[in-house]
Amino acid sequence: CGIVAYIGSKDAAPILLEGLQRLEYRGYDSAGVVVANKGLKMRKVKGRVADLAAAVPARFKGTVGIGHTRWATHGVPSDENAHPHLSNDERIAVVHNGVIENADELRAKLEADGAVFLSETDTEVLAHLIARTVKEADSLEEAVRTALKRVVGTYGIAVLDSERPGEVVVARNGSPIVLGIGEKEMFAASDVAALVRYTRQVVHLEDGELAVLKADGFHTFASDARETAKEPLTVDWET
Ligand code: GLU
Repeated sequence: CGIVAYIGSKDAAPILLEGLQRLEYRGYDSAGVVVANKGLKMRKVKGRVADLAAAVPARFKGTVGIGHTRWATHGVPSDENAHPHLSNDERIAVVHNGVIENADELRAKLEADGAVFLSETDTEVLAHLIARTVKEADSLEEAVRTALKRVVGTYGIAVLDSERPGEVVVARNGSPIVLGIGEKEMFAASDVAALVRYTRQVVHLEDGELAVLKADGFHTFASDARETAKEPLTVDWET
């Protein structure tokens, strides 16, 4: 339902929580955040963003992270089914809006390959898939792109790799993703409402596009891996 991502020099968790609060109007049943700081730290709960904020400890430090509010389509609303979803080695974290149509088939193949599923969601296949492609890939962007070739369905996703805490990868197919450009910090969200407190400079991804966010900027790519040129737009917004 709602996605927020941050990378920069500030503490990510308060920014992610604030962004998720701004997406509450869309409706949701659970919420979660993950930050990278010598490994991944994650909290996710069934319930309100305020319940999530209460569950995030003060020492939840990290200057890169992703967050989600979930509107369940596959699996009941529960702590386990809330996003983010992690790979079994806890290297990869994924948040996802949309529906993976071939999730059952992918799940069966991944289970045959040793993946242990911890949720009933369609989303979790993405974490296990990327955990496999990332081992062969030269970049997180390549790993995500390769994994997404096997996926049928709709998605807006944000992906964090604990071994590459200097970047976040986002991708879109049928579910919106907008990038927010800050001063030595970058944001992404499923809805510009989550970003306008921090920046008015935005870039909308097209279906099939993928973006790499770093603290000092971003790059966008078409599904064939060619870099795309995007002009930032300035959004007008009353807060
Ligand atoms: N299909 C996913 C799930 O049920 C994502 C739902 C959403 O868009 O929030 O977990």
